[in-house]
Amino acid sequence: MKCFSKLLIGFLFCVSSLQAQHEAYENEQDSKVSDTTFVNLRDYSNNFIYDMKYATEDNFLKAKVYDCAECMLRLKTVKALIAANNEFLKKGYRIKLFDCYRPLDIQKKMWEIVSNPEYVADPKKGSIHNRGGAVDISLVDINGKEVDMGTSFDFFGIQASHNFKQLSKEILSKRAYLKKVMIKNGFNSFDSEWWHYNLKAGLKDKVANQKWKCD
Ligand SMILES: [Zn+2]
Repeated sequence: MKCFSKLLIGFLFCVSSLQAQHEAYENEQDSKVSDTTFVNLRDYSNNFIYDMKYATEDNFLKAKVYDCAECMLRLKTVKALIAANNEFLKKGYRIKLFDCYRPLDIQKKMWEIVSNPEYVADPKKGSIHNRGGAVDISLVDINGKEVDMGTSFDFFGIQASHNFKQLSKEILSKRAYLKKVMIKNGFNSFDSEWWHYNLKAGLKDKVANQKWKCD
């Protein structure tokens, strides 16, 4: 009988400690946001400058196609972008954002206007923007002035290419600096657009078409 009660107590203890472990595990899971979850960059950092061109009419579509000027990305893209921005901040620069996640429907509108894969991804394949892994960016200096990168954002011509070298030394070095820091932090550059960067770990995520929550 003594032996049985010991066994019973041991069994009960075992069950309750397992339950406690399970609850702790579940709570941890609830509070932990997955790396592939779409999040708003603003909730993770105040150190970026926003110039979200598609939330205005100042873009090649000549239409405001986003309801609000937010930068939504998958959490892993946000983490890599913040790491890159911290590096720029040490040298007196910070990232200015032109575009982040882009719903697939907007990609289709863009493709109708510019059906050239050198500048706009075919919506049949989907852009990395549609996957929450791409950003269109430039740099702003310590005085808040946008760095001269040789062309404006969404300039669809050879001058926007990383391979175009007929630019001043200053511009070439700024493009190279942007590229160096972004690559170091897990991004790939895109030859025909100096402003576009893809998170290497985000190339295979699913294309999305969800809209932002706007306040
Ligand atoms: Zn882009």
